[in-house]
Amino acid sequence: MTRIEHIESADSTSGNRAIIIGAGLGGLASAMRLGARGYDVTVIDKLDVPGGRGSAIWQDGFRFDLGPTIVTVPQLYRELWAACGREFDEDVELRALDPFYEIRWPDGTKFVAQQDTDKMRAEVAKIEPRDVKGFEKFLKDSERRYWFGFEDLGRRSMHKLWDLIKVLPTFVRLRADRSVYAHASRRFRNEKLRMAFSFHPLFIGGDPCHVTSMYILVNYLEKEFGVHYAMGGLVGMAEKMAKVIKDQGGTFLMQTEVDEIVVRNGKAQGVRLASGLELGADIVVSNADAGYTYDNLMRAAPKKRWVSKRLRRTRYSMSLFVWYFGTKGTRNEWTDVGHHTILNAPRYTGLLNDIFIKGKLADDMSLYVHRPSVTDRTVAPEGDDAFYVLSPVPHLGHQKVDWAAQEEVYKAKMLKVLEDQLLPGLGSKIVSECVFTPQTFRDRYLSPHGSGFSIEPRIFQSAWFRPHNISEEAEGLYLVGAGTHPGAGVPGVISTAEVLSQLVPDAVT
Ligand SMILES: Cc1cc2nc3c(=O)[nH]c(=O)nc-3n(C[C@H](O)[C@H](O)[C@H](O)COP(=O)(O)OP(=O)(O)OC[C@H]3O[C@@H](n4cnc5c(N)ncnc54)[C@H](O)[C@@H]3O)c2cc1C
Repeated sequence: MTRIEHIESADSTSGNRAIIIGAGLGGLASAMRLGARGYDVTVIDKLDVPGGRGSAIWQDGFRFDLGPTIVTVPQLYRELWAACGREFDEDVELRALDPFYEIRWPDGTKFVAQQDTDKMRAEVAKIEPRDVKGFEKFLKDSERRYWFGFEDLGRRSMHKLWDLIKVLPTFVRLRADRSVYAHASRRFRNEKLRMAFSFHPLFIGGDPCHVTSMYILVNYLEKEFGVHYAMGGLVGMAEKMAKVIKDQGGTFLMQTEVDEIVVRNGKAQGVRLASGLELGADIVVSNADAGYTYDNLMRAAPKKRWVSKRLRRTRYSMSLFVWYFGTKGTRNEWTDVGHHTILNAPRYTGLLNDIFIKGKLADDMSLYVHRPSVTDRTVAPEGDDAFYVLSPVPHLGHQKVDWAAQEEVYKAKMLKVLEDQLLPGLGSKIVSECVFTPQTFRDRYLSPHGSGFSIEPRIFQSAWFRPHNISEEAEGLYLVGAGTHPGAGVPGVISTAEVLSQLVPDAVT
């Protein structure tokens, strides 16, 4: 049951009412932080379950976790819970996975990513012995970028130009202008190893050939803190976050869409729901996509920076075609297929170019295969498996693809790749399925162009250049989530909430 009686009209003030638009992981983390700071929090989401891209669909006895599968930097969650006076590990069980994931190529080559550096050295040597030295240098490069990019820049606000100017010399020294792929190419001569050490930005919607090499920090982060799976899925974690918020006295309005942020005299005063009801607030935090927030939710407010023309020039991340399916009686089949597998097409940079630059739906595809039933029995009935298979595809702002017509065609191509290279006989084992196309991303999450991860993390769309966590367009308006600083990915959006809590005024209690 939701309750809205306590919410006053948009004109009244009490000093501590916060409305959060969106119960994505960034919105939930923000609500927790604000609740801990004494705010009276209301979270509004158009979906019927918290977690946004980290939510799930329950169907025919299967639980299809829709988005994030890899959990890194567990200390971020522990700090978030601690800020609310709670113990993360009492609420959520993180299971460390080692090996982390397996990368396969059509010629049968395999690379098994794991935590132990000696084992990683051996994996590199197996593919190209002359690249072991480059691997060691790459790890050091990655650590340097972690301390600067993640622990420093990623955990504080970058809304002042001066903050950017101060760090420019470090950006120059670390060659942030170079792409992740260009950096990997300097350290590895083998093309497969270049892929294995540069594909990570795809997990946050970035083109490895164009996003800043600062993102090689992910390699250090995986090695140092491990790769984990949240038992019960990210949706389980989202539900625990919702529980903390409710325990703090917060309120949820689910299946409720915000139509507009009410701005009067340059100040955000609340929101207007799609039903027409106006709810007042002292601060408004938007976890809706940053571009959507300015272009749609702020459509009537005058804007200085984030005008429609600028947003049309903004580069969005790629979209995704995701096929979720459950298979009957397969738990003891495909025994060499673990929790995370990446299945490469023969092309790497060419395919990236098609997806991100040409915006062309290619015939070939590289796939990420998620098989959580290997680790978590709650996703499928006894003896069965739950999977999702994801293919990065161009977003809807490029060449128009009629996904309603393409869905079955693309799925059939995907099935062929899977049957030929990973899961023989798959087609006859599927008993439950659903598909997300770019159109689903657009309609379900109100994501511009159906992008999977909001604004692409290129250098001139990062830090100060990204939509700020404190809005320059209206007083009392804050932005969190993937399209804001520091960016997409679960650690990124959890960090947006940490930055938010540094920016909001103390609640008047
Ligand atoms: C398939 C997939 C796999 C991924 N894998 C990983 C991974 O392994 N590891 C990782 O770290 N990250 C991963 N990510 C990225 C990560 O999931 C996202 O970056 C992150 O969850 C986004 O969180 P967010 O807070 O920005 O909100 P979102 O999840 O985008 O949620 C925003 C919420 O706002 C709501 N909303 C929007 N507009 C309105 C409105 N007007 N009114 C009411 N409600 C509104 C939406 O319904 C939604 O619930 C993955 C993403 C996808 C899609």
